[in-house]
Amino acid sequence: MAAMLQPQIILLKEGTDTSQGKAQLVSNINACTAVADVVRTTLGPRGMDKLIHDDKGNVTISNDGATIMKLLDIFHPAAKILVDIAKSQDSEVGDGTTTVVLLAGEFLKEAKPFVEDGVHPQNLIRSYRTACYLAIEKIKELAVSIEGKSLEEKKSLLAKCAATTLSSKLIGGEKDFFASMVVDAVIAIGNDDRLNMIGIKKVPGGNMRDSFLVNGVAFKKTFSYAGFEQQPKKFLNPKILLLNIELELKSEKENAEIRLSDPSQYQSIVDAEWNIIYDKLDKCVKSGAKVVLSRLAIGDLATQYFADRDIFCAGRVAEEDLQRVAAATGGTVQTSVNNIIDEVLGTCEVFEEKQVGNERFNIFSGCPSGRTATIVLRGGADQFIEEAERSLHDAIMIVRRALKNSTVVAGGGAIDMEISRYLRQHARTIAGKSQLFINSYAKALEVIPRQLCDNAGFDATDVLNKLRQKHALPSGEGASYGVDINTGGIADSFANFVWEPSVVKSNAINAATEAACLILSVDETVKNPKSESAQGEAAASAMAGRGRGRGRGMRRR
Ligand code: ADP
Ligand code: MG
Repeated sequence: MAAMLQPQIILLKEGTDTSQGKAQLVSNINACTAVADVVRTTLGPRGMDKLIHDDKGNVTISNDGATIMKLLDIFHPAAKILVDIAKSQDSEVGDGTTTVVLLAGEFLKEAKPFVEDGVHPQNLIRSYRTACYLAIEKIKELAVSIEGKSLEEKKSLLAKCAATTLSSKLIGGEKDFFASMVVDAVIAIGNDDRLNMIGIKKVPGGNMRDSFLVNGVAFKKTFSYAGFEQQPKKFLNPKILLLNIELELKSEKENAEIRLSDPSQYQSIVDAEWNIIYDKLDKCVKSGAKVVLSRLAIGDLATQYFADRDIFCAGRVAEEDLQRVAAATGGTVQTSVNNIIDEVLGTCEVFEEKQVGNERFNIFSGCPSGRTATIVLRGGADQFIEEAERSLHDAIMIVRRALKNSTVVAGGGAIDMEISRYLRQHARTIAGKSQLFINSYAKALEVIPRQLCDNAGFDATDVLNKLRQKHALPSGEGASYGVDINTGGIADSFANFVWEPSVVKSNAINAATEAACLILSVDETVKNPKSESAQGEAAASAMAGRGRGRGRGMRRR
């Protein structure tokens, strides 16, 4: 078809490359399948991790689909869509990023033979959309609500969701320990939508189990001046003053230009400067605060002044930490020391400076207004702690989602098998080609349990057959059976508490279908010669790198 379209009129610049139709579609599908193959092995509790390093020597070890996709410098225009859906799944629900890429890849793979046989993509797209709609409705039907339970019950249910998320990560061995920590942190911030109210502080060294949750705020000790050692390091129920001003002598000196005619006046100017700062410090002391924090510097003079009066101070506190102290202790950040009334001071049960590993930490615990929590993470290598942080982020998102939407479905491939069965059954009622397409869609969903088996080294065909049989039971009692990751057989995922919030699944299925349909609807890519040469080079180097296994297709920064 393309050959017949030789234009008589020159429409595009010479050298412009356009490929069209079926060939284009098939090549796009191949690219997406290749991308899905990259993340394939990371799925599930027995999934492997990827080590990604760039030219600068930055090394990242990750199991998280979105992180891997972000770090791979994918330049294929169609395959980029998969990167985007992984990212959007990450920001929308926080988990299920590998799932979404795998599903999209599999939908396309199933569509490929049809495309090659000359089926018009629009027919496929229509059937896929119908199937997606049916699948989402089925998820809604199967979802189990955790609403109306007591706090304790809810906590243990949420911890199970968090444990399912964590089981596929590096810290999976300690999933119960971290799951309950995550649940406590999320419950502490209550309905607050700001995710940064849960701080995660990383302190390399020590054991994972040394990680702990502070019901309040913790941050690394800031830079301090002489006199700091004499300050008390622990208070019970202190008043806390939060400032956004500099308590240093030099500030006035640098802000003004003064012309003097008589040298003796100089002393009075110097005195005035000292008076100003002493006045400020005096006002801080008079406010009754025992802990003074400032976003800006607190100099040596001030440090000593506070030390003499048994007050603790810390300057250059990070904005984020200061905001969290404000939220937790009920204080407000002041931009002036005049008129400090009691209401603007915060308080907490215990303030303490503590040694954590090699670092000193300022810890505010037992905060009256709650609303913040800090997880202090310990562990070996930097890469390890960073991956641990990403994993906790996933778990935090999942618990928040589950708390908000409060419905869960059975994981371990159970929900996917059940939808697959339902779609196959439904397809039988449809006449025409659409039946085949919906069947393919149903088959594609099986990729999740199949991959879970493959990654764990089980016989996928065997397990899948058992699962199909179980799900086909007319009584519907097998609906929550999924892969049993411990024995290599099948088990009731729901009874084993392998749970996932239903939004993770519905969002993943929705996004994957949309991406697949989008790619199926493209039949032509036009590259202009300029960008083509740039991309061509990148392509060549990436291919060469891949061939020799040097990973040069990675992002360069
Ligand atoms: P994603 O990035 O998509 O969340 P994961 O690597 O976290 O990928 O794997 C999630 C999959 O692993 C889900 O389908 C989930 O149901 C499954 N899973 C998690 N824990 C278990 C378990 N203990 N047994 C069986 N399947 C599990
Ligand atoms: Mg996950």
